[in-house]
Amino acid sequence: KSEKDTGVEKRHDVMITFTKAESNPGLQDKFKTTVRSMFRFARRPVNLHILGDEKSKEIARSILLEVADSSKYQLQHLDIDSITRQVHEIVSDMQKFFSYQPGAYYSDALFFLSIVIHRVLPQLHRVVMLDSDLKFNADVAELFTHFDKFSSSNIMGIANDAQPVYRHNFHMYRNKVKDTMVGGPPPNGTTGFNSGVLLLDLDKMRASQLYNSLISSQVVENLSQKYMFKGHLGDQDFYTLISVEHMELFYVLPCTWNRQLCTWWKDNGYADVFDQYFTCEGHINIYHGNCNTQIPKL
Ligand code: UDP
Ligand code: MN
Repeated sequence: KSEKDTGVEKRHDVMITFTKAESNPGLQDKFKTTVRSMFRFARRPVNLHILGDEKSKEIARSILLEVADSSKYQLQHLDIDSITRQVHEIVSDMQKFFSYQPGAYYSDALFFLSIVIHRVLPQLHRVVMLDSDLKFNADVAELFTHFDKFSSSNIMGIANDAQPVYRHNFHMYRNKVKDTMVGGPPPNGTTGFNSGVLLLDLDKMRASQLYNSLISSQVVENLSQKYMFKGHLGDQDFYTLISVEHMELFYVLPCTWNRQLCTWWKDNGYADVFDQYFTCEGHINIYHGNCNTQIPKL
């Protein structure tokens, strides 16, 4: 039966990573902005999955009580230790290609969870997975309508990275293959992705033979060598690398749904091309204060 037949609207599943928050007041502040703004615009209730340790979940609960109408959400806790353990078993061999060094911040298996979440959480179907450094300027329900725009081969929705970070990470390949699209700016380049806002169709992720065949350290090693790639940003490096040969897996989410604000690469060698990556026109639906960038008052 469809939602219309039963008259019951299914709650949307939204997942936010919020862990090690106890000793991190900055993260708590950002999370507060993320959920306050999300529930200011949300017209229908969501299942809010907090991915974090027990203490962080309790901090999330009290922040939510302060800033959100309790009828708008049902809080679910995903235990970080158990999930990280399961993820690590699958991705540990791949992690070294997307990390500076073992033990580094992004090398935590947590930052690879989205890649294998379909195997770890079999009960979920469609999930919006979010960073906690966001500010909403639209209803999250509108973001879910983008699932309906996926082509049959798309398994996830993800926005381009708004900086030339992958132009940089692919620079050796770009020097060798002068006319390549790899690492180039939108609309025609294979720009690379930012994973702060993800639309994950877990059923399609489970069903895709192609996608699951790519979750392999051998595949990642081969692609990394072929495209002379070295990353350090976790899951988004993986998506970027496989997108070079399998763009059909991805629905490219409009930049207005993940308007990143970090400008680090502008001042570090890429001023001349920066705006080709950074430009984003239209009504901004979600601001992303990445690399600790302050989000302007709306
Ligand atoms: N995160 C967390 N605890 C930490 C570090 C990161 O919960 O100690 C989560 C949080 O949701 C954060 C996300 O991981 O938004 C990704 O990190 P961040 O947003 O700082 O990376 P950036 O977007 O700047 O690349
Ligand atoms: Mn972020």
